Amino acid sequence: MTKLHVLNNQRPDLCGPCGGKCCQSAPGAYFPADFGETEAEIRAGVRAALLAGTAALSDSDEDPYVRPPIRDYDGIVQEIYVSPIAQYTGVYPKAPCANLTASGCLLEFDHRPTQCRALAPDPAARGGAGCKLPREIDNPRCREAWAPYRDLFEELI
Ligand code: SF4
Ligand code: SF4
Repeated sequence: MTKLHVLNNQRPDLCGPCGGKCCQSAPGAYFPADFGETEAEIRAGVRAALLAGTAALSDSDEDPYVRPPIRDYDGIVQEIYVSPIAQYTGVYPKAPCANLTASGCLLEFDHRPTQCRALAPDPAARGGAGCKLPREIDNPRCREAWAPYRDLFEELI
């Protein structure tokens, strides 16, 4: 999959009042093509980002994908902490993206993860249920896209 090109769809009129609920709940996911055009470029780019702490792995017990770090979680390769209570109740703690600031995202639009760029702001969509990701870049497809890089993740974990 080549990098998904999305026209700048920022809507400060919608996202400002919302305050970044999407980014507050969890970071959007990168796809491999966010890091380069060839496999070698992607491997080099994602390795550098994981080592620098500007990106992190989603988790290690399932097929992981790459996302921005989560605020207040330490470590180079970070994991979402899911408390036993959350597993029992199904109520998961928020995992705010570390790139979210009071004035919005730290990253230029074209440097944001694919999921962030493709999430079209429309909080009134789906009867008020909110903004929705296109199905072709949902988390299961993201995990599939990262599967060929599992060896790299295992080397870094
Ligand atoms: S994309 Fe949707 S959920 Fe995210 S900040 Fe904008 S309006 Fe809020
Ligand atoms: S990278 Fe930016 S747009 Fe994406 S979740 Fe983080 S703060 Fe939001």
